[in-house]
Amino acid sequence: MSEGRALRERFEAAFMPNYGVPPLALAKGEGCAVWDADGRRYLDLVGGIAVNSLGHAHPALVEAVSRQVATLAHTSNLYLHEPEVLLAERLIGLLGRPGRIFLANSGTEANEAAVKLAITYGRRHGRGYFVATEMGFHGRTLGALALTGKPSIRDKFGPFPIDVRFVPYGDAGALRDAVTGECAAVFLEPTQGEAGVVPPPEGYLRAAREICSATGALLVADEIQSAIGRTGHWFAHQADGAAPDVLTLAKGLGGGMPIGACVGFGEAATLFGPGDHGSTFGGNPVSCAAALAVLDTIERDGLLDNTKAVGGMLADGIAAIRHPLLKGVRGRGLWLAAVLTEPRSAQVQAAAQEAGFLVNALQPDAVRLAPPLVITEAEARSFLDALPGILEAAHVRA
Ligand SMILES: *Cc1c(COP(=O)(O)O)cnc(C)c1O
Repeated sequence: MSEGRALRERFEAAFMPNYGVPPLALAKGEGCAVWDADGRRYLDLVGGIAVNSLGHAHPALVEAVSRQVATLAHTSNLYLHEPEVLLAERLIGLLGRPGRIFLANSGTEANEAAVKLAITYGRRHGRGYFVATEMGFHGRTLGALALTGKPSIRDKFGPFPIDVRFVPYGDAGALRDAVTGECAAVFLEPTQGEAGVVPPPEGYLRAAREICSATGALLVADEIQSAIGRTGHWFAHQADGAAPDVLTLAKGLGGGMPIGACVGFGEAATLFGPGDHGSTFGGNPVSCAAALAVLDTIERDGLLDNTKAVGGMLADGIAAIRHPLLKGVRGRGLWLAAVLTEPRSAQVQAAAQEAGFLVNALQPDAVRLAPPLVITEAEARSFLDALPGILEAAHVRA
């Protein structure tokens, strides 16, 4: 039996069935390449779901994490440390306006902090409900799940402690109707990620900003998937011209180390008083050192430009392919969905894997590409060259 197959069987026996059994056991990575447990090499176009910003085993990340873990790995929030201060200052600098940071371990925890900020804001100003979007994804813990507009993952776990009203994503009129002077906060992704990498119509985020400003609701931008260079900008909202009151970050920030951040601006920067929120591991020195290395490397190596260039090349290359299974491509930067004419994304994922490429069957008709921001044109080209054959294999596959 292959190593991978043996590991998959042991996984199945030892783990809860919530993930099913993943199709592949990965053993190591370097740059945009990963190797499975049997030594087979793949080009990684998933990037740990938009997490491995610098690819695998990047020297800057290895150095920063190794040095920090050998110096001071954990303090708890009873003591502060320099890496967290540097990281908070760095994020505020990149955002370009005054704000304050809370550090967590994951995306859903960053959103839990945002929910508690919004509850605090609502109590202070007599505002009792939240607005979020259909098909939006904000995480699996109960506050974030309450805001998640996907009935299949949400409904089993209600009722929830907050009142959330859902509106169709991208419909500014529906948002205007839903947000009144009693609404505490609107939670939005600048582009819906888990729904299928779905960008909104032009002007939607600016309209959301205007609606929130006019009614006094907080605009919370969930940039957990869209930020840290993924779209070719540090933060997607910067390109949309819609500055949020609260911003949440995670995935790409740590380059693979667990970290999340909630940023508050204006009144939201100081809604929490001492004791209102906390995390034992949140903002631990090793994750902060990793995040600083990610931000430094994106800047030093011009990875925002690389993201625009290689992302544009990938999108153009996919758009130019004529195949009956391929409808088109959507997304921005290195965050794309190849959209299919039939619900065969699982077959595309499997055919790609056989051809040596990792892609993600995100929705039945959408295949996600979120490769490391260090991906080269030559690597992207190798995928584009293989894609017609992958589509053909997926087309005829059972
Ligand atoms: C992934 C994701 C989350 C949840 O992050 P976790 O780290 O898995 O908890 C929340 N919001 C968005 C937009 C995401 O893409």
